[in-house]
Amino acid sequence: MLLRLNNINKAFGSGQPGQIKQVLRDISMEIDQGENLAFLGPSGSGKSTLLNIIGTLDKPDSGDLFFEGRNIIEYSEDQLATFRNRQIGFIFQAHHLLPQCSVLENILVPTLPLRDSKFKKERYARALELIKEVDLWEHRDKLPGTLSGGECQRVAVIRALINEPKLLLADEPTGSLDRKNAMGIISLLLKLNKELNTSLIVVTHSMEIGSKMTNTYDLVDGQLVLSNSPS
Ligand code: ADP
Ligand code: MG
Repeated sequence: MLLRLNNINKAFGSGQPGQIKQVLRDISMEIDQGENLAFLGPSGSGKSTLLNIIGTLDKPDSGDLFFEGRNIIEYSEDQLATFRNRQIGFIFQAHHLLPQCSVLENILVPTLPLRDSKFKKERYARALELIKEVDLWEHRDKLPGTLSGGECQRVAVIRALINEPKLLLADEPTGSLDRKNAMGIISLLLKLNKELNTSLIVVTHSMEIGSKMTNTYDLVDGQLVLSNSPS
């Protein structure tokens, strides 16, 4: 088992004085190494909140989060920053590439804080391999502004994987792409999930994307309901 959530709760102020909105209620689940799954649910159901808690970008009000058996809720901010950089890759709806850096430079950004110089050196060779694998070789020295939306999102996928994280979190990764490019990104994520044995969580409101994943969970009234189609 890679990750275990234990009774995760999260509420936000609703905007009305004194009122709170319970977004996540006692969520418990387990994720195995290499597993792929989707969180489905309408806008506002708490998908991003849950993903951000799993990625340690946000903290639950209560509950525990075990990563390889260690309770990462207890980590300091410094420990969390190192943990995220090495163990978790993030992809968002917007690619968030640095406009003044080339494709290759963007991919190497997560390697800048690495202290292990041998591992750091290996990342450069790995970046070139991955660039070839996703058909961006001729674009490697170009700026993101000269690429299409689908190409930029492929760069973001490689950047998220460059440090070989054990977990890849993708929040509506195809939300700004047309259907063909969207399904291309999902196929790429699933291919890399199998090849690298990186666990993959995709947040989406698309049933079509959900149907490509091994497991799908609906977020209903703050709770996760396993909703695998029988196909
Ligand atoms: P989803 O990703 O499923 O669209 P979110 O997790 O972004 O949903 O949001 C779930 C609910 O929590 C929404 O009602 C949203 O307004 C609220 N919410 C999310 N983040 C915050 C925040 N930082 N402050 C206040 N309310 C928030
Ligand atoms: Mg969201």
